[in-house]
Amino acid sequence: MHKNLTKHILLALLFGVIAGLILNFVPESIFSRLDTYVLTPVGDIFLNLITMLVVPIVFISISLGTASLKDPVQLGRIGGKTIGFYLITTTIALVIGLSLAYLIQPGAEGAFDTQGVEYEAEEAPPIMDTLLNIIPDNPVNAMAEAEMLQIIAIAIFFGVALAKLGDKTAGLHRLLEQGNEVMMFLVRIVMYTAPYGAFALIASAVGAAGVDGLQQMLMYMITIILGLVLHAGITYSLAIRVLGKKSPVHFFKSFFPAMTVAFSTASSSGTLPISMRTAQERLGVSKKVSSFVQPLGATINMDGTAIMQAVATVFIAQVWGADLAFSQLVMVVLTATLASIGTAGVPGVGLIMLSMVLQQVGLPVEGIALVLGVDRLLDMLRTSLNITGDAACAYVIDRSEQGKDTASDSV
Ligand code: ASP
Repeated sequence: MHKNLTKHILLALLFGVIAGLILNFVPESIFSRLDTYVLTPVGDIFLNLITMLVVPIVFISISLGTASLKDPVQLGRIGGKTIGFYLITTTIALVIGLSLAYLIQPGAEGAFDTQGVEYEAEEAPPIMDTLLNIIPDNPVNAMAEAEMLQIIAIAIFFGVALAKLGDKTAGLHRLLEQGNEVMMFLVRIVMYTAPYGAFALIASAVGAAGVDGLQQMLMYMITIILGLVLHAGITYSLAIRVLGKKSPVHFFKSFFPAMTVAFSTASSSGTLPISMRTAQERLGVSKKVSSFVQPLGATINMDGTAIMQAVATVFIAQVWGADLAFSQLVMVVLTATLASIGTAGVPGVGLIMLSMVLQQVGLPVEGIALVLGVDRLLDMLRTSLNITGDAACAYVIDRSEQGKDTASDSV
């Protein structure tokens, strides 16, 4: 991504925050009209523009990535390491979130009124269904519904076939390579609209949260933000330093442009085209590893979301004056990890996962209503961490694969 573009996005975010704060002082009817007819549509156009590229990019890049692996064992090895990294970092994220929530006590009893609090929980997909459905019975449907895990499965099959058939399918291989060029070109074009989208999305989020709402939820927000910072500063930094043998500062600096886009969109899946490109071009991750590890991560790895869920669970327990036993905390870790596997990285999905966790440990799902008002802002922040975790994993695995494969990285 162009350096100036990142600057423009950052400036747009800053102006957006200011505009959102100012909008708190205009009458509600004016804000809601402005939000409905200007901010939300501009934000949605930007979101749609980049989301429309996700399915073709994921399919094409994973097919090409798989086709370039000379040996299927390599795919299994990369897959195993990726899932191991994701599970370990998500567990650490949850432990950080739970510890901070106990330390800071954002929901200290008496500070919140639980009378009349209502929330209609959305159904989360049962985890077994998600796992069984990884192999789709209808590939067209999988693409139409943007079912990421299913698309990944089809693309792997396709790529293996391309590799095995070799010269016989050289034309098709070339077609995919050209498709990849077209997609990358489109990403570049679409990104020119990013500053407008970023401005509209943050202004709408700050305006909707309201200054009062932000003040009341300050401790809750601080706990989560601290968790996000600690996870990036300790867990990812250590992984990059120890496993990737590189300076974490270089890693975060190089990946920062993608983080600003994730912040604006609050969608890991939507940001995929940018996060893959940034990892490949600025961090030097091979296309073969990036195109496999990052789309998988956008679906199954959400450390920022995990931190939010841990903090929110303890917060709601504190507000309702409920004590969580150690076994319930273990349950939080297990459910939150499993829930993240089955849900795609799109805005607001963290709350659906949270309702699963709350139900599992017997806390009132209505508690979600308390955190709802500030959730979009936190969603923006945690999505930035979510995709950073995917990139850190891609970086570490790419380094560990170097020298193990003599074939060129010709995707
Ligand atoms: N918006 C997040 C993501 O796309 C998921 C969430 O926490 O709601 O990664």
